Amino acid sequence: MQDCIFCKIIKGEIPCYKIYEDDYVLAFLDIAKDVYGHILVLPKTHCKNILHVEEKTLNRVISAVKKISNHLVDNCGFDGVNILNNSEKGALVKHLHFHIIPRHDEDGLKVFPEFSGVDCDLGEVCEKLKIKEEVIDIVPTQKVVLYTDGACSGNPGLGGFGAILLHNGKQKIVSGGEENTTNNRMELMAVIRGLEAIKIPCEVDIYSDSAYVVNAFLQNWIGSWQAKGWKTAGGGDVLNIDLWKRLLIQVNKHKVSWHKVKGHADNELNNACDELARKEIDKLRN
Ligand code: AMP
Ligand code: ZN
Repeated sequence: MQDCIFCKIIKGEIPCYKIYEDDYVLAFLDIAKDVYGHILVLPKTHCKNILHVEEKTLNRVISAVKKISNHLVDNCGFDGVNILNNSEKGALVKHLHFHIIPRHDEDGLKVFPEFSGVDCDLGEVCEKLKIKEEVIDIVPTQKVVLYTDGACSGNPGLGGFGAILLHNGKQKIVSGGEENTTNNRMELMAVIRGLEAIKIPCEVDIYSDSAYVVNAFLQNWIGSWQAKGWKTAGGGDVLNIDLWKRLLIQVNKHKVSWHKVKGHADNELNNACDELARKEIDKLRN
């Protein structure tokens, strides 16, 4: 993102006091000088906050948070840490980051706010807030139908994907969005996240309107790419290798049949996936 201060730090356009870096994550001292050793840990790709980050990216950031925290305690004489994050509410910088506040036993800091208390029935709160996701109990050799679609506003731009799984009369919906992505990546993500929602090997019929995704398998482009070390027929690098590899892991788990559907036509479930994808883009816009 062009005007994101943390992206500028990542690109080296603004200096920072670097504490840790790997291929995906950067950690540096917060300039606030409010607490000794206050560190910010963030992904090197721009994403707004924890509500929008891809799970894989988040996992990498959290692993770095743990690594740095352990280092602070094991090698730097601290007794523990507090980890803070603002998502939508209270964030000054809209690039996902975790604050690490190093702590000493007797430092007297009160990092967790003192709330004023609330009168409520915890049973009711639980009923309202718990995740009532339908669990699909799939037994081996069962059949799943997976509809998918991806969308992008601008290419690259804000993207969204949606997937609908059908199994034994039950339906499960998966959707998500990403900033600064492409239509093809979203089409791939729709299939990946749909398949990742299936917990055991199944026969899966995949319906997608993306010729890019479907033909990669039906015309075995993917076989030739792999045989050439992920190079195209022209010798260039295959785009989106990360997602193709992630998709292959899933495809190899199941017995997959690919079906190309016409986009934006009269296929109700394909249209429903398109709508899920567009809603995710709207969420990113707001
Ligand atoms: P948050 O309120 O969670 O968005 O936190 C943003 C943090 O970024 C604040 O603690 C700022 O002090 C810190 N910050 C802003 N600009 C810089 C910078 N150029 N280098 C290091 N930290 C910064
Ligand atoms: Zn950024």
